[in-house]
Amino acid sequence: MPQVAPFHSAGEEDKPGQRRMFHSNDACATGSAIPAAERREGNGGYRQCVDCSRQNEIDALRASATGGAR
Ligand SMILES: [Zn+2]
Repeated sequence: MPQVAPFHSAGEEDKPGQRRMFHSNDACATGSAIPAAERREGNGGYRQCVDCSRQNEIDALRASATGGAR
């Protein structure tokens, strides 16, 4: 699943500061669970979600692997 422009939930600001996060990958379950009406563009100044971070790394590895193997 592709990396996407950063987005976060409108409800994020109700959480304690260290728990606020933004998402940047379509494959993230937490990010996908945010209803469209509550999605906000941008990172909101929050930390990046760890699942998104891992997915983005996997995507990058996969991209470099397929680029060389074919
Ligand atoms: Zn995420």
